[in-house]
Amino acid sequence: MARIAINLKEGNISKEEYIIGIDLGTTNSLIACVTDGKAMCLQDKNGQNTLVPSVIHFDHEGKASVGKTAKDYLIEDPENTIYSVKRLLGKSFNDIENKSHFINYRIIETDPTAMVRVQIRDKFYTPVELSSEILKTLKIRAEEHFNSIITKAVITVPAYFNDAQRQATRDAGKLAGLDVLRIINEPTAASLAYGLDHAEGKQTIAVYDLGGGTFDISILSLEGGIFEVLSTNGDTFLGGDNIDQDIIAFWAGKYGWNTTEIQRNRQANQQLRLMAEKAKIQLSSEASFKEEYAGLIVELNRNELHTIIQPIVETTLKYCKNALNDARLTKEKIDHIVMVGGSTRSPYIKDLVSQYFGKEVFDKIDPDTVVALGAAIQADVLAGNQRDVLLLDVTPLSLGIETVGGLIDVLIPRNTKIPCKAGRQYTTSIDGQVNLKIAVYQGERELVADNRKLGEFILKNIPPMPAGLPKIEIIFTLNSDGILKVKAKELRSDTSQEIEIRPTYGISEEEMSLMLLDSIKNAKEDMQTKALLEAVTEAQTNLLATQKFLKQNDSWLSNAEKQTIMELYNRLEEATKGNDKDIIYSIMQELNDYSEPLAHKAMDYSIAQSLKGTKIE
Ligand code: AMP
Repeated sequence: MARIAINLKEGNISKEEYIIGIDLGTTNSLIACVTDGKAMCLQDKNGQNTLVPSVIHFDHEGKASVGKTAKDYLIEDPENTIYSVKRLLGKSFNDIENKSHFINYRIIETDPTAMVRVQIRDKFYTPVELSSEILKTLKIRAEEHFNSIITKAVITVPAYFNDAQRQATRDAGKLAGLDVLRIINEPTAASLAYGLDHAEGKQTIAVYDLGGGTFDISILSLEGGIFEVLSTNGDTFLGGDNIDQDIIAFWAGKYGWNTTEIQRNRQANQQLRLMAEKAKIQLSSEASFKEEYAGLIVELNRNELHTIIQPIVETTLKYCKNALNDARLTKEKIDHIVMVGGSTRSPYIKDLVSQYFGKEVFDKIDPDTVVALGAAIQADVLAGNQRDVLLLDVTPLSLGIETVGGLIDVLIPRNTKIPCKAGRQYTTSIDGQVNLKIAVYQGERELVADNRKLGEFILKNIPPMPAGLPKIEIIFTLNSDGILKVKAKELRSDTSQEIEIRPTYGISEEEMSLMLLDSIKNAKEDMQTKALLEAVTEAQTNLLATQKFLKQNDSWLSNAEKQTIMELYNRLEEATKGNDKDIIYSIMQELNDYSEPLAHKAMDYSIAQSLKGTKIE
């Protein structure tokens, strides 16, 4: 569900300037604004619908139409009608390859890791371009309503959107001619809409958001008007669409339809999808559904629907449990449960969620508009019309850089509240090193190879110095939109370089969950590999230092001393090729024990030489 919020800003900005909040949704979009201190949704020209279906149709000339008119083409012209584009935002062809059964239009593979493209006749569109079409329509609705040009926006996104998806959303806004002032999470907006910031004392809130294509659960803590997202969990491929697909599968079983044939026939598939959705919605208020399809009476009753829905809700409750675990809370500690998303209109879903938490759920506000209304309130806050409301969110996966030995050094751990800033000092490992590659990774595993690379850059023109002398400070800044800035600076010379992470493709929640699961499964093995790599790295530094020592002190070391050092050197070098860190450490100890008195001797020798006035290296 996408919602758009508009706020008329007064005071130091002229009355003609408005702030728009946009939540670019999977199924629907809508607009809200705060006027006279009250949040409300904008309707279409006829004063009827607040929802704008997130559907885009392209005619023969390539002209786009969006919303209700475009939705009507889903059956007539499915190949040129795009829905659920939010699923593709910030994703590569690889990311969605196994999930393309949700899609009736053509997605194409150019570079499998680059952003996916949609083919409409002989033209190709990115999800950013397609989303911008929806945003343009929303912008026009707002402009017609206010009779003014709209250029500023607040956009809400699912809590689980990663950096790439947030960036893609921001880009879509830009393409639609909107300056996106803030991207906020939908559950945070929903909590604002319920005015929970006025609640007395500390509150813990679970926001259960089941829309058409996504599921999010967020655990928020609220104290003194300050919201804090304790944890988030969910799945970008779970929602009302799944219920519709399961209804079709149920009918196929009941009436003996050929499912492969349905899937192959786009028009039939689309028609059945709409009929299944109609049945589901009707059964939220009526006892039965009956309609004719291809000369056959198709029926569905509440009990059948409940059997279809139950496993889907159970899956969402597993995500709820994960979120509670991450927040180190039990379900009994939740004070309020806020329902968001069109699918939570289903009384059966509300009951199951309420039973799970053992409490009534918050459902007074229309679950379709609740986030839009919250976005309007956020826009109002940005416009300076409300008292301070601080919104805190968390980062879903750890962020760090690659260090020597291919290990990840985490600067911002997973579930850190954002906005946040973290910095650490590093140095070079090679004498005279003038360039340093900084590779940024996301994930929970010890080795970078097992994590997801977000980007890299090279800090150039470091003045040549011996290894270990340069002081390189790396700072990660994660802003409130979840966009990561990485800055590297060599402190002695003031050389600096920075990047804003804009990965070419994104990552789904499923993959995120898999990455987390992987890190738990491989924790022991990872620790062992990490310990070995640390030993090897330390040994390599020792080997380099030994080489340098032999070269610098060649003139006075005895042949026997040189031979012993070389023997230890060779043994240590051999050990670094093996898997036993204890052997590495034990040889390193032997080498250190043997060379320590010689190092003292070397020091005395160089002092004596310098007293004599001889230049030493
Ligand atoms: P959203 O993404 O929040 O717009 O939610 C859209 C989803 O809500 C779609 O899957 C709709 O079929 C579903 N939906 C809308 N109204 C109802 C209803 N009354 N009962 C069950 N599901 C509904």
